[in-house]
Amino acid sequence: MTVLIVEDERTLARELGIFLHNHNFACTVARTAAEARAQLADTPFDFVLLDLGLPDGDGLQVLAEAKQNELTAAVIILTARSAVEDRIGGLELGADDYLAKPFSLPELLARMHAITRRRFGLHKPRVACGAFELDLQTRQLFCAGQEVSLSVKEFNVLSYLVLHKNRVLTRLQLTEHIWGNLADTGFDSNFIDAHIKNLRKKLGQYADTDWLETVRGMGYRARL
Ligand code: CA
Repeated sequence: MTVLIVEDERTLARELGIFLHNHNFACTVARTAAEARAQLADTPFDFVLLDLGLPDGDGLQVLAEAKQNELTAAVIILTARSAVEDRIGGLELGADDYLAKPFSLPELLARMHAITRRRFGLHKPRVACGAFELDLQTRQLFCAGQEVSLSVKEFNVLSYLVLHKNRVLTRLQLTEHIWGNLADTGFDSNFIDAHIKNLRKKLGQYADTDWLETVRGMGYRARL
C-alpha cells in the first residue's frame, strides 16, 4: 500500500518512513502543505498521514481541499495539538482516525490495519482467492492448509489484486502500489508482468489460477 507522509519534522518523517517501509508500505514524504497538495493531485495514495502544523499552512486546509477533489485515501491525522476542536474538525472533514503526538509506531500500524480491514469489509484477516487463502496479518498465503512461499513483492501484488477483486488494475497502478512515487524510480511495466508470471507458476503448483486474469491492453484482475 502507498502512504503519503505529510510531516515537517524531519526526524519524525524519517522514522515513520523507515518503520512503514519495513512493514511493506511504499512511502512518499511531503514536508509542506504545498508539497502535499502537489503529491495528492498527482498520485492516488492508499493512506495519508497528516500533520496539522505545517510551515506554510494548516493540514486541515489541505484535507478540506483534497476531500473536495475526491480524495480516496484513508487519512490519519498526526498532531501535537490536543484541542478537542481540532480533533472534531479533522474527523468532520473526513479523516479516518486521529493520533496525538507522541504516539507509538505499533499503535499507528494497528490503526492502519484496522482501517484497511474496515475499508475492504474484512472481518477476518484471511481472504479467499480461488482455492487459496491470504492472511493479511501474517502476510502468508495458504492452499489447503499448506503455506505457499511468496516473495514480499509477489505478496504485495497478489494482495492488492485480491483486495480490489473484480477490478482491472493497470500495470502503473500495481507498480505505484509496490514502489511508491515513481518519479524517483522510473516505470517499467515488465516488473509487474514478471511478478505475475512467477505468481502463476508458484500458485499453479497447488491449484487452479484461472481467477488471476490478464486483461489484454489494460492490466490484471482477480476475478473472485
Ligand atoms: Ca508540524
